[in-house]
Amino acid sequence: MTTDKKYKNFQATLGLLSQEPLSKYTSFRVGGPADLLAAPRDRQTLIAILKLAKQEGFPVTILGGGTNTLVSDKGIKGLVIVLKELKSFPCILDTESNTQDRKTLHADAGERLSTVCQFAMDRGLAGLEFAAGIPGTLGGALIMNAGTAAWEISQVVAALEVINTKTFTFKTIKRKDLAFSYRQLSAVDILIVGAHLSLTPADPAGIKKRFDQALKAKTTTQPISLASAGCFFKNPSSHAPAGKLIEDAGLKGKKINGAQISKRHANFIVNTGNARCEDIIALKNLVQKTVFEKYHIKLETEVKVTGE
Ligand SMILES: Cc1cc2nc3c(=O)[nH]c(=O)nc-3n(C[C@H](O)[C@H](O)[C@H](O)COP(=O)(O)OP(=O)(O)OC[C@H]3O[C@@H](n4cnc5c(N)ncnc54)[C@H](O)[C@@H]3O)c2cc1C
Repeated sequence: MTTDKKYKNFQATLGLLSQEPLSKYTSFRVGGPADLLAAPRDRQTLIAILKLAKQEGFPVTILGGGTNTLVSDKGIKGLVIVLKELKSFPCILDTESNTQDRKTLHADAGERLSTVCQFAMDRGLAGLEFAAGIPGTLGGALIMNAGTAAWEISQVVAALEVINTKTFTFKTIKRKDLAFSYRQLSAVDILIVGAHLSLTPADPAGIKKRFDQALKAKTTTQPISLASAGCFFKNPSSHAPAGKLIEDAGLKGKKINGAQISKRHANFIVNTGNARCEDIIALKNLVQKTVFEKYHIKLETEVKVTGE
């Protein structure tokens, strides 16, 4: 059977979307179509889709909220699984590890990080307020070890619930067995489906104050109203932050077609309206080349580039 025919059968069996434009699923608002797209609402459906995809030999690409991902103009071959519908409302777990000082919040990977953050704040639980303004899903935040200069989400992780994509089994991995580093969780063959976050009971007014301060700092320094994927490059470990290097290299405001180095924050590439992935990649290459020529520093992308 041809691959196209296999895709059609697969689509019909599971009721999936075909040739779905991925620009609808990424905050950059660019990206060609997925051959097939699934957005499972529960873990059993997710497992069924993963098993069938493996049986048929389809490549699988995972998207959460698509806020840290740049998809190519030709799109993605095979099956894209969007995990942002995989959610039920967060809750406080009644576990032995709860104490006067620590409470365990449970949330599914598809939950928006902002919803989890708000849920914790409403219950007087501190630890997530520094995530103010970070878009995307909880699962994406965990894989990216999302954070700010002073905080990252790994600081509150107690355990992750995952699916092993080789054996299709569920497992809970404790914090001590997880390898988090700067904007990264080293994880092979797993999908995160839920998390246990360890938070601290605290004065709600103080939590709200820290949340508001973090949000204000973000909205005043970053171009959050424009289409982007947040900071494009990782900060080099022993130099000035990437944004400062890019700004000092004279690239702030530089445009290639619809893609532009933000005038507000030079580590943001923004889509001014009609950018294509190739424009954003051209700008990325220009930044890397210019910064290397000027400072001998290789800027690594924080944004995940995917597709054909
Ligand atoms: C305006 C703006 C501001 C931002 N500010 C910040 C910031 O302050 N700090 C920061 O760290 N980031 C920031 N970001 C980047 C982004 O929001 C975060 O990295 C976010 O946590 C990504 O979540 P997501 O669900 O959108 O991930 P996606 O972009 O969907 O996915 C990112 C990666 O994770 C993988 N993935 C997603 N979900 C799962 C899962 N459940 N299991 C396994 N793999 C998975 C994907 O395959 C992909 O490789 C910002 C982005 C924007 C647009």
